[in-house]
Parts: sequence; structure tokens; C-alpha cells
Amino acid sequence: MDLQAVVDDIVRDLQPRLGEGKVADYIPQLARVDPNQFGIAITTVDGTTYTAGDAGTSFSIQSISKVFMLTLALGKAGEAIWKRVGREPSGSSFNSIVQLEHEHGIPRNPFINAGAIVITDMVLAGHEPREAIGEFLRFMRFIADDDAVTIDEKVARSEQETGYRNFALANFMRGFGNLQHPVEHVLGVYFHQCALAMSCVQLSHAGLYLANRGTNPLTGFSVVSPKRARRINALMLTCGHYDGSGDFAYHVGLPGKSGVGGGILAIAPGKASIAVWSPGLNRVGNSALGSVALEMLATRTGWSVFGT
Ligand code: GLN
Repeated sequence: MDLQAVVDDIVRDLQPRLGEGKVADYIPQLARVDPNQFGIAITTVDGTTYTAGDAGTSFSIQSISKVFMLTLALGKAGEAIWKRVGREPSGSSFNSIVQLEHEHGIPRNPFINAGAIVITDMVLAGHEPREAIGEFLRFMRFIADDDAVTIDEKVARSEQETGYRNFALANFMRGFGNLQHPVEHVLGVYFHQCALAMSCVQLSHAGLYLANRGTNPLTGFSVVSPKRARRINALMLTCGHYDGSGDFAYHVGLPGKSGVGGGILAIAPGKASIAVWSPGLNRVGNSALGSVALEMLATRTGWSVFGT
């Protein structure tokens, strides 16, 4: 299959639709991003990368960071993490608080904001916030095999200043005893992980361990066991797009994780790690053109995990 032709065709077909969707504006710094951008990078498990469009432009990975923090938390605490966070789709928006009261401060899954905040609290154990941010950044550089990956401090500050709903979620969970560190510390780390800036190329490299049974084929390093990679993929498939997860499985059929910066990381197990980015979001906060692009890709490649 000519994957370069596939990504070139996708960029060409989407050209007239650039700017579709609505850029996230509840984080002021993200509202400034030019919506007329689209990039795609596919890295196959043999280490070859195919790119088209704005694949080299850095963007804010936002909630895609939740996959990588989950990986770190599992490495640190293992299966014990599931006492404090569930593994079921929420069917609610990414920043919803409604289920938390009924479920005694235990979030539905690690990919909604409440769940990710609990995961960040776990990664923070034994560290100062500064050290936990450093650990996350080092891990991202290691799995992307690229020391140029950085955190956009302006985005982190912008969220710190306006993250009222995240403060509400964190305070609510601390009230239930499900956060062990001060809310300011946990959210300080959370806002910095979300503010990581990566290009599609870098992100497709970083996701490779999930496509390749836990080992990054670029470096040969084992990041997680094959079983853990499989389980993270399962969570991405069921919960990675919030209340759009069912729709994403229906149209694309790949484990995926979106972020309000307009990025999506999708995994074709045994085949490739794919990153797409376009800032305009659909109704549930997932990249509008990114979702369309991945549907086109799945159709062309037959990579859906549900069959060709
Ligand atoms: N930093 C964003 C927030 O907490 C992440 C949300 C997202 O990407 N869906 O609101």
C-alpha cells in the first residue's frame, strides 16, 4: 500500500474544508491558533514516517497527554490505580462533574478531566510538582526519541488562570479524599502536561510503543509490556473521545485519543501510530477535520480493528 499517496490524497481532499469546526476558546491562548491548518503523520512499526500538510508544526497536545500520564502512573503504581479511577466510558463531556457525586469522587475513566487529574495526583506521589513535570517531559522526549519536545509555558499559564472547572473538579475530588496532594500542586502539573507542544511527526513517534506491543521500534526500548499496551489501547478505544467515543469507533475503528488543541493520536495495533491535527473542534470537542481524516485513512487502509 502506498501510504504516502494516502496522506497526500487526504490533505488534498480536505483542503477546501480547512477551518471547519470551532477552535477551543475557553483557554485564551488556544483561541489564538490559526484554524486553517491540517497535518498528518503516519509512522509504521518498521519506523518509516509518512507526512503531509502541517505535519511538522507544533501544537498543544492537551488531553492526548492523558495517555502518557496513564502509562507513567501504571508504571509507578500498577493495577492499584483502578481503586481510584474506573474504566468505563462516561457518556458525558470531558469536563463534566455530574457523575462524581454519585460515584463518591471516583471518576469514570482516566481520559476525562476528573480521571486524568487523579492520575496526575498518582504521578506526583513522592515528588515536588516541578519534578513530576520534569519526569513527564523526560518521558515524552524518550518515547518520541526527540529532545526538542518542550512545554509551552504560555499555554500552561493561560489554563492556570482560567481553569475554573478543573479547579472545581479537583476540589470536589479532594473533598471525597481522592486527591492526596494540594489542588494547586496537582493542577500545576496537569496544566503543564496538557501544554506540551508536539508536531504530528513527534506525536506519531511517541505513540509507536502502543502500536508495537509496548516497544518503541525506533529505539528498541521496551516502554510497557505487550499486555499493558493492549489494555491502554482498549481504554483509548472505549473512552478516548469522551462522549464521541462510540461515534469514533463506528467511523474510524481505532484506539484514539483527542485533545482540545485539535490533535488526535490513533493506533493501528501491529501496524502504525498516526497523528492528525487541525484546530477546529466538533460539538464534543474532538478535531472536526482530524476525525474526518482518520475515517478516510481507515477506509483506505482497512486498518479498523473491527475488520476490513
Ligand atoms: N487542558 C484541557 C482541560 O483541562 C484538556 C481538555 C481536552 O483536551 N479535552 O480542559
